[in-house]
Amino acid sequence: MSDKKRASDFVDEERLWARQMYLATFGETSKGGVNRQALSAEEIEARKLLMDWSAEIGLTAFIDDIGNLFFRRDGTDPALAPVMTGSHIDSQPTGGKFDGSYGVVAAFEAIQAIIDAGLELKRPVEVAVWLNEEGSRFAPGMMGSEAYAGVRSLDDMLPVTDREGVSVKDALPAALAATPDATHREFGCPVFAFLEAHIEQGPVLEAEEKVVGVVTGIQGVRRMRVRVTGEEAHAGTTPTAERKDAIQAASKIVTELYEQINEDPQTKFTIGMMNITPNVPSVISSEVLFSIDIRHENSEYLEKMAVRTEAICAEFGDVCKVEAWRIAESDSVYFDDRMTAAVEEACVALKTPYRRMFSAAGHDARQLSYICPTAMIFVPCEKGISHNEAENATPGDLRDGAKVLADVLTKLGNDTDTNTKEV
Ligand SMILES: [Zn+2]
Repeated sequence: MSDKKRASDFVDEERLWARQMYLATFGETSKGGVNRQALSAEEIEARKLLMDWSAEIGLTAFIDDIGNLFFRRDGTDPALAPVMTGSHIDSQPTGGKFDGSYGVVAAFEAIQAIIDAGLELKRPVEVAVWLNEEGSRFAPGMMGSEAYAGVRSLDDMLPVTDREGVSVKDALPAALAATPDATHREFGCPVFAFLEAHIEQGPVLEAEEKVVGVVTGIQGVRRMRVRVTGEEAHAGTTPTAERKDAIQAASKIVTELYEQINEDPQTKFTIGMMNITPNVPSVISSEVLFSIDIRHENSEYLEKMAVRTEAICAEFGDVCKVEAWRIAESDSVYFDDRMTAAVEEACVALKTPYRRMFSAAGHDARQLSYICPTAMIFVPCEKGISHNEAENATPGDLRDGAKVLADVLTKLGNDTDTNTKEV
């Protein structure tokens, strides 16, 4: 052990928890949750709070055209690209106190710990706050990270409207005007590495009494729609042989899909939505429209299951017409080995119980992984409950995650090796 100070020793549990709880008052709900949707008045107020935190610890603020915020602590070599950490502060309408906001609070805590330890790093270290990860008001989400990484263009996002007909273009100026002290930044400025801390949103860490999940990737997904078209007819008078019953055909398809696609226990297969037309007790249904969501870590296998789903749907297209189409697809991403190794090493050095794991949910880190070496740090949340006002986590677990984050940022901040995929 060198006698050099470790940033993790300066992570302050009380300070972190106080910030976490204070941020949760912006859009707080009566049931102890948070409703802080993207570009809402509550979210804009929270942005001002982050500006205050940034100023208090001497960081420099930047903002881009979609409203992503960045708070920078300079490094000693101005020519080097920054190490970034952070997440999002928007929430679901009945969201919890920790989803996204923990990654932002932990980022501030880690950088403050680095400063308090008196560590000068070669690279700048930045808190990133990505706009509209959740997509609950403006769908689909991940707007900030996708715009920054060049996955989707600003022009595609600006016309997106919420339920009231307010567009991103309408809502954005108020958010941009709320942080006049932030300097404008272009999308896609080089990033040396990105590290996102987040609650697990699943039950694994708590069940295994681990404190940190070293996230090795994010599982891919295929989202589909199936439309079964039959013929509306009288329930009493139509002979069985002449019926084109959409519910009957859809039931056969659904049964077959659950049997075949669920074959591998690693597969997550969901039919979460089903609309029946006309949905009347004494009328044979003319149409069933349902959703399919398939997830699996192995992208090749996932694609095979999507193709098999399409084949199963086609098989039952005899009496009724069956159409299946894809609405979204993404392959699994595998995070950079050197990044996950760095997180693992920090856990070992801090004697923090950890396990390597794949993320079942999507995160901004997916988009960042397309432009720089990326990894994530998961911390446990109570019973795995998330996207729920009851979402909970312990101050000690949040502290331990921030400690790992602080030490990995320190290491990356002094890494001048260009072997990784620098942009
Ligand atoms: Zn999140």
